Order: sequence, then structure tokens, then C-alpha cells
Amino acid sequence: MSTLGTCESPGCTAPAKLQCPTCIKLGIQGSFFCTQECFKGNWKTHKIIHALAKGETVDAKKDSIYNPWPYYHFTGKLRPFPQSEKRTVPPNILRPDYADHHCGYPLSEQAVKGSSQIKILDDEEIEGMRVACKLGREVLDEAARVCDVGVTTDEIDRVVHEACIERDCYPSPLNYYEFPASCCTSVNEVICHGIPDTRPLKDGDICNVDVTVYHKGFHGDLNETFFVGNVDNKHKNLVKVTYECLMKAIDIVKPGEKYREIGNIIQKHAQAHGYSVVRSYCGHGIHRLFHTAPNVPHYAKNRAVGVMKPGHCFTIEPMISMGSWKDEMWPDKWTAVTTDGQWSAQFEQTLLVTETGCDILTKRRNESGLPHFMDKL
Ligand SMILES: [Zn+2]
Ligand SMILES: [Zn+2]
Repeated sequence: MSTLGTCESPGCTAPAKLQCPTCIKLGIQGSFFCTQECFKGNWKTHKIIHALAKGETVDAKKDSIYNPWPYYHFTGKLRPFPQSEKRTVPPNILRPDYADHHCGYPLSEQAVKGSSQIKILDDEEIEGMRVACKLGREVLDEAARVCDVGVTTDEIDRVVHEACIERDCYPSPLNYYEFPASCCTSVNEVICHGIPDTRPLKDGDICNVDVTVYHKGFHGDLNETFFVGNVDNKHKNLVKVTYECLMKAIDIVKPGEKYREIGNIIQKHAQAHGYSVVRSYCGHGIHRLFHTAPNVPHYAKNRAVGVMKPGHCFTIEPMISMGSWKDEMWPDKWTAVTTDGQWSAQFEQTLLVTETGCDILTKRRNESGLPHFMDKL
């Protein structure tokens, strides 16, 4: 029995009109698609039934048919690949509370949830933040050194994980609300919170690596978007403007400035280049807690609460998109992607408000030997 109903492409409900010509030739029933677009989009998976009909063997890995969510309609071209096992941290390394909670709840964060009170760090705590942030920077620099064509994001995660352990740090994302890896890797249309997997990076990709380390009770958080091989100018410009958005925002950080002003600066610059600002994810206070007050939106006319004071520690981490600012989540409940599949970039630093301005605690140091971002353009 066959019904000429809806398109066979997973998640598509449009009426089916076109039948696959190879299927007709091979005498395979069905195989109706709504448009050439949907047919082409499913070719990799669809052609497997041709192979099966011809009695050929199918290699799932080689034919990249891994699709854990056949019902989900992807917004762009990126697909998930199998992930490796959750990595372990030796018991001698100090762990945050959520590391051993069965569902990864950060109980110390939840205890102050809803409060907009911003902690003023004392000298000892400031020193703790300086050290954690310096180590976080070293770890991200290790990721920068390996991020290249053909390298999997899982390999980047392994490098980050081991670089943390070498520095007596716990990788903060690991088991945070059950996040399964030691860093976030967000490729192309992924806005943030991408899970490292076994997809090899391709020439022309952009890949953000977000690292947070936990050392002696303090978190240091930063991220950068890296070019993979030869990136086209259109996407290079997106990354450049995103970097500029962060630097322009950092320029206004000083005692007395309102947290809500940061979004005005960022959106003005992004919009001037025809880009949009992601609204669902914000910068955050950070110290003994990974994410806490203040909340720091990156979009204009936001209603963020609070005024900067010496001793405040927080991140700015704008996510800038080529097309729509809107995001949605993959069924893994972590990976945030643009709803139109256009690419998105991000940069992040952890900042300390000083008497006269701010210190970028996670800034790249000359001794890293790595090129300055602007020199890569
Ligand atoms: Zn981060
Ligand atoms: Zn952050």
C-alpha cells in the first residue's frame, strides 16, 4: 500500500509531489518528496535505500547516516556527530558542587538565584580570580593551537580537559546541569553551547571554543571564535565585527556605568554592519559561582539591573549573527543555533571593575606566542 501524502523528509509536512527517479528505476515503492530542495537535503540518507535495494552493504559511519533526531528539521547545514564518553577529573583536583550532583545542579548558585545583588570581591578573592582567569586563558590558547582543518571538536575537548588538569583546574562546564563535555565548541550556525563531537572541522568553518576553569574556588571564563583554514571574507567580517563589539563594550566598563549600557554599545556596532544581536544568552557575574548577578544582556534598550562598582567581576560575551537574532535549540537541549541557519560568532572575556576602569582578567598574554586576533585578518 502506498499513500501520496506528505514529503518523506523528516519533519517536513508539505504535500509530496516528486518521486525519486532512482527509486522508480529500481522499482522501490514510495520515495515521494515535496520539492527538489527536500530531496537533495535528504540525499545522503535517502540513497542508502538504493544501496540496500541493490544488495550492497551500508557502512553507517562512512556514509554519515548518524542522525539521532530523524524528526528534527535542522536550520542549517551542520549536523551532530557521535560524542565520546564523558571525561573524568582526578580526585585530587578541587571540584565545584555540581560536579558530583546527580543532575549537575549548582546548589550554591541556586541559593542566590533571583537576587540581583552583585558581590564586591575583597583583595583575596580578586587574587583568586586573577589566577583562575590567567589559567583559563592558557587553556584556551592550547585549544587555539590545535583548532584546524580535520581536527574534531572532541579532540579540542580532550586538549582542553588535559590542559585543565595539568594546571590543577576542574573544567567548569563538565556536568554543569549535566553538560557532557569540558568545553563548548560552537561551529558555524551554532550560537553557543555546542557539544564537542567527532565531526572533523572543515576548511572554511568558524569554530568558537568557550573555556571556563575552576581553580582554588574561583571560575575564569573566556571564549574566542577561530578560523578553520580559509574562511570566506563574508564570515571573516562577521567574526571581526563580533570581536570589535566586545572590545567597544569593554571600553565603557568603569565605576558608575550602568550594566544596561553595554547592550546599547554592542547593538549599535553590530547593526551598523548589518548584523543582529542574540538575545537569549547574556554575560554574567562570575567568581566563586559560575553564573550569577549581574545579568548582562548584549542587546540595546535592555532592562539590566545594576551599576558597576570596583570589585565587581563579570563577563561580556556578545553573540552576533549574520541574519536573524533568533535562536532555537537542538534536541540535545544544549546546542543553540540560529533559526535561519546563518552563521553566528562570539568572543568573551572576564572583567574586573577597578577604581578607574577595568582589567581584562582573561586577556591574551604576549608570552603565549599566538598572533593577535586582528593580525589574522
Ligand atoms: Zn564562556
Ligand atoms: Zn560566560
